[in-house]
Amino acid sequence: MVASLVTLFKKLKFGTDENVGWGPIDLPELELQTTAYWLTGEELADGWRRDELDVALIGAGRAIQAVAAVLLMIDPRDLGLVSQVRSPHHDAPTIYLYEAVPGGVGLSERLWARHEELVDGAADLIATCSCDAGCPACTGPRLEPGVDAKALALRLLRGLGARRTPVRRAAIPGAA
Ligand SMILES: [Zn+2]
Repeated sequence: MVASLVTLFKKLKFGTDENVGWGPIDLPELELQTTAYWLTGEELADGWRRDELDVALIGAGRAIQAVAAVLLMIDPRDLGLVSQVRSPHHDAPTIYLYEAVPGGVGLSERLWARHEELVDGAADLIATCSCDAGCPACTGPRLEPGVDAKALALRLLRGLGARRTPVRRAAIPGAA
């Protein structure tokens, strides 16, 4: 069961999306009974600072979500992402990808079957991205400036068994 609670609203201008204010709102909690695929690693809890592990889980989760959308040919919004430094279900760091449709439509099973491709693909996506420390194309929007989400997410994915793939280099015309 995924519970979400909206606590704030934001006002945007039509056409320009200019932010013209925000405020609190009081709405009932939304509940979604669905199916999920998850990655968990008890061994990951050791040797990590909690704040770094948090950034790593979010970054790796975003990359896995992006790879999952391509592998299953679905909209990235069909999968919700939740990461927890210490999941109450597994007592360990965990990344959940849950289906955004009540009950699920079988995406989780298909993700489970392609687990290795997801982990390898996410590591590849991040490693070959041209950014320095994480960006919306690989680890997602940077939530904390000054933190190397790229290095942290890669370290986490290697810990989850991602294979090292050779970095692909673009051919330079004229180079020997
Ligand atoms: Zn990037």
